[in-house]
Amino acid sequence: MPDLGYRALVVDRGGSGASAEVRRLRADEFPANEVTVAVAYSDLNYKDALAVSGGGILREYPMVPGIDFAGEVIASESPEWKPGDLVIGTGWGIGERTWGGLSELARAKAEWLVPVPEGMTLQQAMAIGTAGLTAMLCMMALEDQGLSPESANGREVVVTGAGGGVGGVAVALLGRFGYNVTAVTGRLALEDYLKDLGATTVISRDQLPIGSKRPLESQRWAAGIDVVGGEVLAAVLRQVAYYGSVAICGLAGGSTLTTSLVPFILRGIKLVGVESVVCPVDRRRAAWRRLARELPPESLDRMTEVVSLADVPRLAAEILQGRSRGRIVVDVHQ
Ligand code: NDP
Repeated sequence: MPDLGYRALVVDRGGSGASAEVRRLRADEFPANEVTVAVAYSDLNYKDALAVSGGGILREYPMVPGIDFAGEVIASESPEWKPGDLVIGTGWGIGERTWGGLSELARAKAEWLVPVPEGMTLQQAMAIGTAGLTAMLCMMALEDQGLSPESANGREVVVTGAGGGVGGVAVALLGRFGYNVTAVTGRLALEDYLKDLGATTVISRDQLPIGSKRPLESQRWAAGIDVVGGEVLAAVLRQVAYYGSVAICGLAGGSTLTTSLVPFILRGIKLVGVESVVCPVDRRRAAWRRLARELPPESLDRMTEVVSLADVPRLAAEILQGRSRGRIVVDVHQ
């Protein structure tokens, strides 16, 4: 059979910065690895937007970006996987250090893959994607610190960056578990959307005590999931109740944290970092199983848009301008 090639979004470095275009590549042009996957879907995350726009996270060029993918194994040198297995690949530098998911073909190490959980479609797997996995890991981190709907005792759990991917899934998960959720967004026009996902209250970022001189404000949140960092996180910390925890995973609003030690000492607040890229495989599998069981499919549908490979550069620019909403799934065959 002639090798007709596989479509892939290729990012390369030119004289005036990075270029991204859909090309057709032969199978032997894809770097070798243990498992070969016929990709069905990938998705767009903040990191992908940086990669496609030349944002400096790629380690080599040319690169096929896409930090995750879902598809079917078509060849395997590993006993762990066989042709026909349905798999999800996330983390470990996929789409940053090695060619990623925005392509009809992907090659990966066996340990980078997890099985698609029972009852989940490949499209749903990428509607969840790295963003959804991270939201679940954040919720699990808060549970490890003792958070439950009972311990929250009526206080709300705050989610920042709620209009985006991680934030949207976090709102839906917490809402599903019976927490009262405050969604914080820079776009109040998303209020109805966020309430449909599960938010009890939607507030604008300006309503947080950003820039307050007081180290503590009234105890408002039982706990928090923060994807924004910077001043937004500092403002959230001033309002977390005694012994509450904040799971942090992102820095869309800045990596510098200016806070006093007072919230940590006088209120015993804990800051828990969450990283999906190097998350141990057992916890990763457990998180995917929980997502299959616990994330309402209708919430996922509500927050998901399906696009083609050619749409990716335009949508990447929208993500970096903070104009995208929820989750963007890429059907790599479109
Ligand atoms: P999205 O682009 O989908 O969403 C980010 C949201 O953050 C935006 O929708 C916006 O919320 C808010 N935001 C963006 N820019 C600013 C700003 N300058 N100031 C304040 N708020 C801002 O990204 P994701 O949800 O995919 O990812 C969010 C963050 O989490 C990123 O930093 C990403 O790198 C990180 N991340 C980390 C992972 C990990 O494993 N640690 C995994 C996945 C993501 P709104 O629209 O509500 O205003």
